[in-house]
Amino acid sequence: MFISDCLNVNKEGHLTIGGLSTVQLAEKYGTPLYVMDENLIRENIRSFKKSIERYYGGHGLVAYASKAFACKAMYAICKDEGIGVDVVSGGELYTALQAGFQPENIVFHGNNKTPDELTMAVETGVGRIVVDNISELHLLDGIARAAGKKVRIMFRIKPGVDAHTHSFIRTGQIDSKFGFALETGEAMAAVDEALKLPELTLVGLHCHIGSQIFDIEPFEHAAQVMLQFMGDVKKKHGAVLRELNLGGGFGIKYLPEHDPDDYDTYMKRVSTVVKKTAAQQDLPEPFILIEPGRSIVGPAGITLYKVGAIKEIPGVRTYVSIDGGMGDNPRYILYQSDYDVMIANKATQQKTEVVTVAGKCCESGDLIQENAPIQHVEVGDVLAVLATGAYNYSMASNYNRIPRPAVVFVKDGKDRLAVRRETYEDLVRCDCE
Ligand SMILES: *Cc1c(COP(=O)(O)O)cnc(C)c1O
Repeated sequence: MFISDCLNVNKEGHLTIGGLSTVQLAEKYGTPLYVMDENLIRENIRSFKKSIERYYGGHGLVAYASKAFACKAMYAICKDEGIGVDVVSGGELYTALQAGFQPENIVFHGNNKTPDELTMAVETGVGRIVVDNISELHLLDGIARAAGKKVRIMFRIKPGVDAHTHSFIRTGQIDSKFGFALETGEAMAAVDEALKLPELTLVGLHCHIGSQIFDIEPFEHAAQVMLQFMGDVKKKHGAVLRELNLGGGFGIKYLPEHDPDDYDTYMKRVSTVVKKTAAQQDLPEPFILIEPGRSIVGPAGITLYKVGAIKEIPGVRTYVSIDGGMGDNPRYILYQSDYDVMIANKATQQKTEVVTVAGKCCESGDLIQENAPIQHVEVGDVLAVLATGAYNYSMASNYNRIPRPAVVFVKDGKDRLAVRRETYEDLVRCDCE
C-alpha cells in the first residue's frame, strides 16, 4: 500500500511509521519534523552486508555514504552494525569521530579537500583517503611526510560510463569535476606518480557513477572498466591493486510507480562481472567496497508538516502551503525531485485532489511537489512527505532564518530525539554583534 515498508495505518486511519502514529509524533515534537524508522535503516544496512557475504565471501566492506544523512546517532548505528562510513568534509569526519566511530573504517572523499581537512584525516588515522586529482596527491604526500605517517589511498576514477540519471547527480562521465579520466591517460599518469611516493600506499581504485540509478547495466559496465584498468596497471608496473570501490547510487522508490531492482540482484550481477573480468586480467578477486547512501536511509524517513494557507487559483492550480519547505527539503528546487505526499490524518481516504505543495520561503520555486495527488486537504491537516530520509536533513539550510527541524528516530514502538529542533538562539549563535 505504501512506498516504504515502515509505513502503515492505525485504527484511527492515521499514518504510522515504525508502528507509531505520525499524528501523535507531530503533536509531541511539533512540525516540521523528520521521522526515521531505525529498524528499516538497520535492515537496509544488513541486506547490503549480507550481499557482500553472499557474492564476495565477505571479502568487502559496506561504507555508508554519510552525506545522505549525517548526525551522531546515525554514525552510532553504523558503528553498531559493523560497517564503514564515507565522509566528504572535515565536518562529517568530526561528527563521525564524536560519535566514537573507528577511523580505520572511514573513507574520505571529495574533489577539493583542504589542507586542514587532509591533515585532520592523516592525524586521526582515517583508513582510506580517496584522492581526486594530482594536486591533492602531492598535497597529501607533503602532509603525510610532515606527520611521519603512512597513508592508505585510493584513486577516484571516471570510468566514462553514462548513468541514466539527472545531469547534476551524474558523475561517471569525462565532463565531471570528480576524479581522474581514463581516456586521456590522466589516471595512469597519477598511478605512475603515486607508486613513487613512499608515504602513500595506493590500495585500490574507486568509482561512483551517479545517484538514483535504476539500471544495473551502467554498474556492470563501470566494474568491468575499472578491473580492466587494474589489469593495465599490473601490466605496466607489476603492481596489483587489492581494492575496488564501486561507489553507491542505487535508486529508491519515491513514487508508487517506481520499481527499482532489489539490491541483491544488483550485487549478484555486478559480482559476476567483477569475478569474470578479474580472471581475464589475471588479477586476484579484489576486496570490494560499496557506498550506499540514499538506499540505506531514504526509504526510512518521512517529513511531517502542518497545512496552513490553501490558495485555489481557478483554472490554474491549488497551492497548499506547509510550515516548512526548501529549507528542510531543497530537492525539488534543486532537481525537481519526485515525492509522494499524503494527509497523515486521512491515510485511509482516497486521493481525490491534485495540488501543488508549497513551502513558506520567499522563493516562487520553493515547492515540495507540483501536481501531486492527495486526499482532501484542510487547514490544520498533518501533511506527510514520504521517502525523505536521504538528502533532506543533510541538505537543510536556515534560509529565511527558519530553524531546522528536529529528527526523531522510532524503533520497536518507541521514539527518541536524535537531533533537537533548532531555536531562534541557535540562529544568532554565530552572529558577532
Ligand atoms: C554521494 C556518494 C555516494 C552515495 O550515493 P547514493 O546515491 O546516496 O547511494 C557514494 N559514494 C560517493 C563517492 C558519493 O559521492
